[in-house]
Amino acid sequence: VPTRCRARAAFADARASTARERTRRDETRRTQKRPTMRVLVTGGAGYIGSHTCVRLLDAGYDVVVVDNYDNSCAIALDRVRAIVGDAVSARLSAHEVDCCDADALEEVFATYDGRGGVDAVIHFAGLKAVGESVAKPMRYYSNNITSTLVLCDVMARHGCKKIIFSSSATVYGEPATVPCTEDFPTAALNPYGRTKLFIEHILTDLYKSDQAWDVAILRYFNPVGAHASGTLGEDPKGIPNNLMPFVQQVAVGRRPELSVFGTDYPTQDGTGRRDYIHVVDLADGHVAAVKKLTDSVSKAGLITVNLGTGKSTSVLELVAAFEKASGKTIPMKMVDRRPGDAAEVYAKTDKAFDVLGWRAERTIEDCCIDQWKWASTNPYGYAGKEDAE
Ligand code: NAD
Ligand code: UDP
Repeated sequence: VPTRCRARAAFADARASTARERTRRDETRRTQKRPTMRVLVTGGAGYIGSHTCVRLLDAGYDVVVVDNYDNSCAIALDRVRAIVGDAVSARLSAHEVDCCDADALEEVFATYDGRGGVDAVIHFAGLKAVGESVAKPMRYYSNNITSTLVLCDVMARHGCKKIIFSSSATVYGEPATVPCTEDFPTAALNPYGRTKLFIEHILTDLYKSDQAWDVAILRYFNPVGAHASGTLGEDPKGIPNNLMPFVQQVAVGRRPELSVFGTDYPTQDGTGRRDYIHVVDLADGHVAAVKKLTDSVSKAGLITVNLGTGKSTSVLELVAAFEKASGKTIPMKMVDRRPGDAAEVYAKTDKAFDVLGWRAERTIEDCCIDQWKWASTNPYGYAGKEDAE
Protein backbone atom coordinates (compact mmCIF):
# COMPACT_ATOMS: atom_id res chain seq x y z
CA VAL A 1 0.00 0.00 0.00
CA PRO A 2 1.51 3.36 -1.01
CA THR A 3 2.69 5.48 1.92
CA ARG A 4 0.29 8.31 1.04
CA CYS A 5 -2.72 5.93 1.18
CA ARG A 6 -1.54 4.49 4.49
CA ALA A 7 -1.17 8.00 5.87
CA ARG A 8 -4.63 8.92 4.62
CA ALA A 9 -6.11 5.74 6.16
CA ALA A 10 -4.37 6.48 9.46
CA PHE A 11 -5.68 10.01 9.35
CA ALA A 12 -9.23 8.76 8.63
CA ASP A 13 -8.89 6.28 11.53
CA ALA A 14 -7.76 9.04 13.85
CA ARG A 15 -10.65 11.25 12.75
CA ALA A 16 -13.16 8.44 13.23
CA SER A 17 -11.80 7.69 16.66
CA THR A 18 -11.95 11.40 17.63
CA ALA A 19 -15.54 11.51 16.37
CA ARG A 20 -16.33 8.32 18.33
CA GLU A 21 -14.73 9.85 21.40
CA ARG A 22 -16.76 13.04 20.95
CA THR A 23 -20.00 11.05 20.53
CA ARG A 24 -19.14 9.00 23.63
CA ARG A 25 -18.45 12.20 25.58
CA ASP A 26 -21.73 13.77 24.43
CA GLU A 27 -23.57 10.54 25.24
CA THR A 28 -22.00 10.41 28.72
CA ARG A 29 -22.92 14.03 29.27
CA ARG A 30 -26.50 13.33 28.19
CA THR A 31 -26.95 10.25 30.29
CA GLN A 32 -24.78 11.22 33.26
CA LYS A 33 -26.87 11.46 36.40
CA ARG A 34 -26.28 15.01 37.45
CA PRO A 35 -28.37 16.42 40.25
CA THR A 36 -29.54 19.29 38.04
CA MET A 37 -29.34 20.60 34.51
CA ARG A 38 -27.28 23.69 33.87
CA VAL A 39 -28.64 26.68 31.94
CA LEU A 40 -26.38 29.52 30.86
CA VAL A 41 -28.23 32.83 30.77
CA THR A 42 -26.68 35.68 28.81
CA GLY A 43 -27.95 39.06 29.96
CA GLY A 44 -29.08 37.36 33.17
CA ALA A 45 -28.70 40.51 35.28
CA GLY A 46 -31.15 42.44 33.10
CA TYR A 47 -34.88 42.93 33.57
CA ILE A 48 -36.24 39.74 32.02
CA GLY A 49 -33.04 37.77 32.65
CA SER A 50 -33.03 38.33 36.42
CA HIS A 51 -36.67 37.22 36.78
CA THR A 52 -35.93 34.18 34.64
CA CYS A 53 -32.96 33.28 36.86
CA VAL A 54 -35.31 33.20 39.87
CA ARG A 55 -37.77 30.91 38.11
CA LEU A 56 -35.01 28.63 36.77
CA LEU A 57 -33.45 28.31 40.22
CA ASP A 58 -36.89 27.68 41.74
CA ALA A 59 -37.43 24.97 39.13
CA GLY A 60 -34.19 23.25 40.17
CA TYR A 61 -31.74 24.28 37.44
CA ASP A 62 -28.14 25.36 37.94
CA VAL A 63 -27.82 28.85 36.47
CA VAL A 64 -24.73 30.48 34.99
CA VAL A 65 -25.15 34.18 34.24
CA VAL A 66 -22.98 35.92 31.65
CA ASP A 67 -23.47 39.68 31.59
CA ASN A 68 -21.25 42.68 30.90
CA TYR A 69 -23.56 44.90 33.01
CA ASP A 70 -23.89 47.34 30.13
CA ASN A 71 -27.55 47.94 31.05
CA SER A 72 -27.76 46.29 34.46
CA CYS A 73 -25.83 45.80 37.65
CA ALA A 74 -24.68 42.97 39.88
CA ILE A 75 -27.06 44.13 42.63
CA ALA A 76 -29.90 42.57 40.62
CA LEU A 77 -28.23 39.18 41.06
CA ASP A 78 -27.82 39.79 44.81
CA ARG A 79 -31.59 40.34 44.87
CA VAL A 80 -32.09 37.10 42.93
CA ARG A 81 -29.98 35.30 45.57
CA ALA A 82 -32.00 36.87 48.39
CA ILE A 83 -35.30 35.80 46.79
CA VAL A 84 -34.32 32.16 46.32
CA GLY A 85 -32.50 31.86 49.64
CA ASP A 86 -29.02 30.72 50.65
CA ALA A 87 -29.28 27.03 49.81
CA VAL A 88 -30.67 27.55 46.31
CA SER A 89 -28.49 30.56 45.50
CA ALA A 90 -25.43 28.29 45.66
CA ARG A 91 -26.64 27.04 42.27
CA LEU A 92 -26.21 30.50 40.73
CA SER A 93 -22.88 31.69 39.40
CA ALA A 94 -22.13 34.88 37.49
CA HIS A 95 -19.40 35.94 35.08
CA GLU A 96 -18.79 39.53 34.04
CA VAL A 97 -18.14 38.85 30.39
CA ASP A 98 -19.06 40.48 27.09
CA CYS A 99 -20.63 37.89 24.79
CA CYS A 100 -18.77 39.44 21.85
CA ASP A 101 -15.49 38.40 23.51
CA ALA A 102 -14.93 34.88 22.16
CA ASP A 103 -11.95 34.09 24.41
CA ALA A 104 -13.72 35.15 27.58
CA LEU A 105 -16.87 33.24 26.64
CA GLU A 106 -14.76 30.21 25.77
CA GLU A 107 -13.28 30.35 29.27
CA VAL A 108 -16.73 30.42 30.86
CA PHE A 109 -17.88 27.33 28.96
CA ALA A 110 -14.57 25.59 29.70
CA THR A 111 -15.16 26.15 33.44
CA TYR A 112 -18.20 23.86 33.27
CA ASP A 113 -16.89 21.27 30.78
CA GLY A 114 -15.56 19.00 33.48
CA ARG A 115 -18.76 19.40 35.48
CA GLY A 116 -21.30 18.14 32.98
CA GLY A 117 -21.19 21.18 30.70
CA VAL A 118 -23.99 23.55 29.81
CA ASP A 119 -27.27 21.91 28.78
CA ALA A 120 -28.98 24.94 27.24
CA VAL A 121 -28.49 28.65 26.75
CA ILE A 122 -31.02 31.46 27.05
CA HIS A 123 -29.70 34.41 25.06
CA PHE A 124 -31.14 37.63 26.50
CA ALA A 125 -27.98 39.71 26.09
CA GLY A 126 -28.55 42.59 23.73
CA LEU A 127 -29.23 46.28 23.41
CA LYS A 128 -32.91 47.14 23.20
CA ALA A 129 -33.59 50.88 22.97
CA VAL A 130 -35.32 51.59 19.65
CA GLY A 131 -34.43 55.32 19.59
CA GLU A 132 -30.79 54.69 20.41
CA SER A 133 -30.65 52.04 17.69
CA VAL A 134 -31.65 54.68 15.13
CA ALA A 135 -28.96 57.07 16.38
CA LYS A 136 -26.27 54.40 16.79
CA PRO A 137 -27.11 51.56 14.38
CA MET A 138 -23.58 50.19 14.22
CA ARG A 139 -23.48 49.75 17.99
CA TYR A 140 -26.69 47.71 17.76
CA TYR A 141 -25.64 45.59 14.80
CA SER A 142 -22.23 45.01 16.30
CA ASN A 143 -23.37 44.10 19.80
CA ASN A 144 -26.54 42.14 19.10
CA ILE A 145 -25.39 40.23 16.07
CA THR A 146 -21.73 39.64 16.98
CA SER A 147 -22.69 38.38 20.44
CA THR A 148 -25.05 35.83 18.86
CA LEU A 149 -22.49 34.63 16.29
CA VAL A 150 -19.76 34.31 18.92
CA LEU A 151 -22.10 32.59 21.37
CA CYS A 152 -23.31 29.97 18.86
CA ASP A 153 -19.75 29.23 17.81
CA VAL A 154 -18.53 28.75 21.39
CA MET A 155 -21.61 26.69 22.28
CA ALA A 156 -21.04 24.31 19.36
CA ARG A 157 -17.40 23.87 20.32
CA HIS A 158 -18.53 22.79 23.78
CA GLY A 159 -21.21 20.39 22.56
CA CYS A 160 -24.15 22.58 23.59
CA LYS A 161 -26.63 23.02 20.75
CA LYS A 162 -29.76 24.21 22.51
CA ILE A 163 -30.53 27.91 22.40
CA ILE A 164 -33.50 30.05 23.36
CA PHE A 165 -33.48 33.49 21.78
CA SER A 166 -35.22 36.69 22.94
CA SER A 167 -37.03 37.96 19.91
CA SER A 168 -39.82 40.48 19.91
CA ALA A 169 -43.27 41.23 18.56
CA THR A 170 -41.48 44.10 16.84
CA VAL A 171 -40.74 41.61 14.01
CA TYR A 172 -44.44 41.81 13.06
CA GLY A 173 -43.90 45.49 12.15
CA GLU A 174 -47.32 47.11 11.82
CA PRO A 175 -49.46 43.96 11.50
CA ALA A 176 -52.32 44.14 9.00
CA THR A 177 -54.61 42.29 11.41
CA VAL A 178 -54.56 41.08 15.02
CA PRO A 179 -53.99 38.81 16.87
CA CYS A 180 -50.49 38.12 15.52
CA THR A 181 -49.81 34.49 14.65
CA GLU A 182 -46.30 33.18 14.27
CA ASP A 183 -46.70 32.72 10.52
CA PHE A 184 -47.43 36.43 9.89
CA PRO A 185 -45.05 38.16 7.50
CA THR A 186 -42.17 39.78 9.32
CA ALA A 187 -40.84 43.30 8.95
CA ALA A 188 -38.58 45.56 10.90
CA LEU A 189 -39.03 49.28 11.27
CA ASN A 190 -35.72 50.26 12.90
CA PRO A 191 -32.18 48.91 13.47
CA TYR A 192 -33.15 47.28 16.78
CA GLY A 193 -35.98 45.37 15.07
CA ARG A 194 -33.66 44.45 12.22
CA THR A 195 -31.16 42.89 14.65
CA LYS A 196 -33.98 40.72 16.04
CA LEU A 197 -35.09 39.72 12.56
CA PHE A 198 -31.53 39.04 11.33
CA ILE A 199 -30.82 36.88 14.37
CA GLU A 200 -34.03 34.92 13.76
CA HIS A 201 -32.74 34.27 10.21
CA ILE A 202 -29.24 33.40 11.45
CA LEU A 203 -30.59 30.85 13.93
CA THR A 204 -32.94 29.40 11.33
CA ASP A 205 -30.07 28.98 8.84
CA LEU A 206 -27.90 27.47 11.59
CA TYR A 207 -30.60 24.93 12.37
CA LYS A 208 -31.14 24.11 8.69
CA SER A 209 -27.40 23.48 8.30
CA ASP A 210 -27.13 21.28 11.39
CA GLN A 211 -30.25 19.71 12.83
CA ALA A 212 -28.42 18.62 15.95
CA TRP A 213 -29.38 22.11 17.15
CA ASP A 214 -32.60 22.86 19.02
CA VAL A 215 -33.65 26.48 18.68
CA ALA A 216 -36.53 28.30 20.35
CA ILE A 217 -37.26 31.78 19.03
CA LEU A 218 -39.51 33.47 21.56
CA ARG A 219 -41.32 36.61 20.42
CA TYR A 220 -42.17 38.68 23.47
CA PHE A 221 -45.03 41.12 23.46
CA ASN A 222 -44.83 43.90 26.12
CA PRO A 223 -43.12 42.72 29.32
CA VAL A 224 -44.17 44.70 32.41
CA GLY A 225 -44.48 44.16 36.16
CA ALA A 226 -41.94 42.99 38.66
CA HIS A 227 -41.25 40.19 41.11
CA ALA A 228 -43.99 40.03 43.76
CA SER A 229 -41.39 40.65 46.49
CA GLY A 230 -40.90 44.17 45.10
CA THR A 231 -37.13 43.64 45.14
CA LEU A 232 -36.59 42.90 41.45
CA GLY A 233 -37.83 45.01 38.55
CA GLU A 234 -37.03 47.07 35.49
CA ASP A 235 -34.43 49.77 35.98
CA PRO A 236 -34.07 51.68 32.72
CA LYS A 237 -31.19 54.11 32.28
CA GLY A 238 -32.18 57.64 31.18
CA ILE A 239 -35.65 58.54 29.96
CA PRO A 240 -37.76 55.38 29.55
CA ASN A 241 -38.97 54.58 26.03
CA ASN A 242 -41.73 52.29 27.14
CA LEU A 243 -45.07 53.12 28.64
CA MET A 244 -45.01 51.24 31.96
CA PRO A 245 -41.60 52.44 33.21
CA PHE A 246 -42.57 55.97 32.20
CA VAL A 247 -45.84 55.76 34.15
CA GLN A 248 -43.88 54.39 37.11
CA GLN A 249 -41.45 57.32 37.03
CA VAL A 250 -44.33 59.82 36.93
CA ALA A 251 -45.91 58.05 39.93
CA VAL A 252 -42.75 58.38 42.05
CA GLY A 253 -42.26 62.02 41.05
CA ARG A 254 -39.28 61.61 38.72
CA ARG A 255 -41.22 62.95 35.70
CA PRO A 256 -44.01 65.55 35.77
CA GLU A 257 -46.45 63.92 33.34
CA LEU A 258 -47.02 61.17 30.83
CA SER A 259 -47.30 62.08 27.17
CA VAL A 260 -49.99 59.92 25.59
CA PHE A 261 -48.88 59.30 22.03
CA GLY A 262 -52.01 59.60 19.93
CA THR A 263 -55.69 59.71 20.86
CA ASP A 264 -57.10 59.23 17.36
CA TYR A 265 -56.36 55.56 16.78
CA PRO A 266 -59.28 53.41 15.59
CA THR A 267 -59.63 51.89 19.07
CA GLN A 268 -62.39 52.29 21.65
CA ASP A 269 -60.74 55.18 23.55
CA GLY A 270 -58.50 56.34 20.71
CA THR A 271 -55.21 55.29 22.34
CA GLY A 272 -52.88 52.49 21.27
CA ARG A 273 -53.48 48.95 22.52
CA ARG A 274 -50.74 46.46 23.42
CA ASP A 275 -50.40 43.00 24.92
CA TYR A 276 -48.78 43.57 28.35
CA ILE A 277 -47.35 40.39 29.83
CA HIS A 278 -46.20 40.04 33.45
CA VAL A 279 -42.43 39.49 33.53
CA VAL A 280 -42.81 36.47 35.84
CA ASP A 281 -45.20 34.82 33.36
CA LEU A 282 -42.63 35.58 30.67
CA ALA A 283 -39.90 34.04 32.82
CA ASP A 284 -42.03 30.92 33.21
CA GLY A 285 -42.34 30.78 29.42
CA HIS A 286 -38.55 30.44 29.33
CA VAL A 287 -38.54 27.64 31.87
CA ALA A 288 -41.13 25.87 29.69
CA ALA A 289 -38.89 26.41 26.64
CA VAL A 290 -35.85 24.98 28.47
CA LYS A 291 -37.93 21.91 29.37
CA LYS A 292 -39.02 21.54 25.76
CA LEU A 293 -35.47 21.82 24.40
CA THR A 294 -33.94 19.45 26.96
CA ASP A 295 -36.73 16.88 26.75
CA SER A 296 -35.00 13.53 26.34
CA VAL A 297 -38.01 11.89 24.64
CA SER A 298 -38.83 14.20 21.74
CA LYS A 299 -36.55 16.58 19.87
CA ALA A 300 -37.74 20.20 19.71
CA GLY A 301 -36.03 21.23 16.46
CA LEU A 302 -36.72 24.84 15.49
CA ILE A 303 -39.70 26.48 17.13
CA THR A 304 -40.97 30.05 16.94
CA VAL A 305 -43.47 31.00 19.60
CA ASN A 306 -45.27 34.14 20.75
CA LEU A 307 -45.11 34.92 24.45
CA GLY A 308 -48.04 37.20 25.15
CA THR A 309 -51.40 37.10 26.94
CA GLY A 310 -53.70 37.22 23.91
CA LYS A 311 -55.41 40.38 25.27
CA SER A 312 -54.78 44.04 24.60
CA THR A 313 -54.98 47.03 26.94
CA SER A 314 -55.13 50.68 25.88
CA VAL A 315 -52.80 53.39 27.22
CA LEU A 316 -55.69 54.94 29.18
CA GLU A 317 -56.75 51.55 30.60
CA LEU A 318 -53.20 50.83 31.73
CA VAL A 319 -52.91 54.25 33.39
CA ALA A 320 -56.25 53.69 35.17
CA ALA A 321 -55.11 50.26 36.43
CA PHE A 322 -51.83 51.75 37.64
CA GLU A 323 -53.59 54.64 39.40
CA LYS A 324 -55.82 52.12 41.17
CA ALA A 325 -52.86 49.94 42.23
CA SER A 326 -50.72 52.85 43.41
CA GLY A 327 -53.29 55.30 44.72
CA LYS A 328 -51.40 57.96 42.70
CA THR A 329 -52.76 60.26 40.03
CA ILE A 330 -50.80 60.19 36.76
CA PRO A 331 -50.98 63.61 35.05
CA MET A 332 -51.29 63.16 31.28
CA LYS A 333 -50.73 65.30 28.22
CA MET A 334 -52.33 64.19 24.95
CA VAL A 335 -49.82 64.57 22.11
CA ASP A 336 -49.39 63.40 18.51
CA ARG A 337 -48.89 59.78 17.55
CA ARG A 338 -45.36 58.40 17.82
CA PRO A 339 -44.14 57.57 14.29
CA GLY A 340 -44.18 53.86 13.52
CA ASP A 341 -46.68 52.95 16.27
CA ALA A 342 -49.42 50.48 15.36
CA ALA A 343 -52.96 50.98 16.68
CA GLU A 344 -53.22 47.54 18.22
CA VAL A 345 -50.85 44.62 18.65
CA TYR A 346 -51.56 41.44 20.56
CA ALA A 347 -50.59 37.81 20.40
CA LYS A 348 -52.32 34.67 19.33
CA THR A 349 -51.27 32.40 22.15
CA ASP A 350 -52.43 28.95 21.02
CA LYS A 351 -49.03 27.86 19.72
CA ALA A 352 -47.30 28.66 23.03
CA PHE A 353 -49.82 26.45 24.80
CA ASP A 354 -49.67 23.65 22.22
CA VAL A 355 -45.86 23.59 21.94
CA LEU A 356 -44.69 24.66 25.40
CA GLY A 357 -47.74 23.85 27.53
CA TRP A 358 -47.46 27.41 28.82
CA ARG A 359 -49.85 30.31 29.07
CA ALA A 360 -49.73 33.64 30.90
CA GLU A 361 -51.73 33.72 34.11
CA ARG A 362 -51.41 37.20 35.55
CA THR A 363 -53.76 40.11 34.78
CA ILE A 364 -52.97 43.72 34.00
CA GLU A 365 -54.06 44.49 37.59
CA ASP A 366 -51.43 42.02 38.91
CA CYS A 367 -48.85 43.71 36.68
CA CYS A 368 -49.65 47.15 38.10
CA ILE A 369 -49.69 45.95 41.73
CA ASP A 370 -46.25 44.34 41.40
CA GLN A 371 -44.88 47.24 39.37
CA TRP A 372 -45.93 49.61 42.14
CA LYS A 373 -44.40 47.41 44.85
CA TRP A 374 -41.09 47.62 42.99
CA ALA A 375 -41.44 51.34 42.18
CA SER A 376 -42.45 52.46 45.64
CA THR A 377 -39.62 50.61 47.35
CA ASN A 378 -36.98 51.29 44.65
CA PRO A 379 -38.03 54.64 43.14
CA TYR A 380 -34.56 55.18 41.68
CA GLY A 381 -33.87 51.57 40.73
CA TYR A 382 -31.08 49.43 42.15
CA ALA A 383 -28.41 52.07 42.44
CA GLY A 384 -30.35 54.81 44.23
CA LYS A 385 -31.03 58.44 43.45
CA GLU A 386 -27.52 59.78 42.83
CA ASP A 387 -26.58 57.14 40.26
CA ALA A 388 -29.97 57.24 38.55
CA GLU A 389 -29.80 60.98 37.77
P1 NAD B 1 -32.05 44.47 29.68
O1 NAD B 1 -31.29 45.57 29.03
O2 NAD B 1 -32.61 44.72 31.03
O3 NAD B 1 -31.19 43.14 29.71
C1 NAD B 1 -30.23 42.85 28.72
C2 NAD B 1 -28.96 42.43 29.45
O4 NAD B 1 -27.98 42.09 28.48
C3 NAD B 1 -28.38 43.56 30.30
O5 NAD B 1 -28.11 43.04 31.58
C4 NAD B 1 -27.08 43.95 29.58
O6 NAD B 1 -26.11 44.39 30.47
C5 NAD B 1 -26.73 42.63 28.90
N1 NAD B 1 -25.90 42.75 27.71
C6 NAD B 1 -26.08 43.53 26.62
N2 NAD B 1 -25.10 43.32 25.72
C7 NAD B 1 -24.29 42.36 26.24
C8 NAD B 1 -23.14 41.71 25.79
N3 NAD B 1 -22.57 41.99 24.61
N4 NAD B 1 -22.56 40.79 26.59
C9 NAD B 1 -23.08 40.48 27.80
N5 NAD B 1 -24.19 41.07 28.28
C10 NAD B 1 -24.79 42.00 27.51
O7 NAD B 1 -33.23 44.07 28.68
P2 NAD B 1 -34.47 43.11 28.92
O8 NAD B 1 -35.69 43.95 28.90
O9 NAD B 1 -34.24 42.19 30.04
O10 NAD B 1 -34.45 42.33 27.54
C11 NAD B 1 -33.79 41.08 27.40
C12 NAD B 1 -33.85 40.66 25.95
O11 NAD B 1 -35.21 40.60 25.53
C13 NAD B 1 -33.17 41.64 24.98
O12 NAD B 1 -32.52 40.90 23.98
C14 NAD B 1 -34.32 42.42 24.40
O13 NAD B 1 -34.04 42.90 23.11
C15 NAD B 1 -35.41 41.37 24.37
N6 NAD B 1 -36.76 41.94 24.41
C16 NAD B 1 -37.10 42.81 25.40
C17 NAD B 1 -38.36 43.39 25.42
C18 NAD B 1 -38.74 44.40 26.48
O14 NAD B 1 -39.68 45.15 26.27
N7 NAD B 1 -38.07 44.43 27.62
C19 NAD B 1 -39.30 43.06 24.41
C20 NAD B 1 -38.91 42.15 23.43
C21 NAD B 1 -37.64 41.58 23.43
N1 UDP C 1 -46.90 55.25 24.85
C1 UDP C 1 -47.33 56.48 25.27
N2 UDP C 1 -46.46 57.27 25.98
C2 UDP C 1 -45.18 56.89 26.28
C3 UDP C 1 -44.76 55.61 25.83
C4 UDP C 1 -45.64 54.82 25.11
O1 UDP C 1 -48.47 56.86 25.02
O2 UDP C 1 -44.45 57.66 26.91
C5 UDP C 1 -47.83 54.37 24.11
C6 UDP C 1 -47.35 53.92 22.74
O3 UDP C 1 -47.77 54.84 21.74
C7 UDP C 1 -48.03 52.57 22.59
C8 UDP C 1 -48.09 52.04 24.02
O4 UDP C 1 -47.94 53.18 24.87
O5 UDP C 1 -49.37 52.71 22.14
C9 UDP C 1 -46.95 51.05 24.36
O6 UDP C 1 -45.70 51.65 24.00
P1 UDP C 1 -44.32 50.94 24.34
O7 UDP C 1 -43.23 51.81 23.82
O8 UDP C 1 -44.30 50.59 25.78
O9 UDP C 1 -44.40 49.56 23.55
P2 UDP C 1 -44.37 49.28 21.96
O10 UDP C 1 -45.05 50.42 21.26
O11 UDP C 1 -42.95 49.14 21.60
O12 UDP C 1 -45.14 48.02 21.81
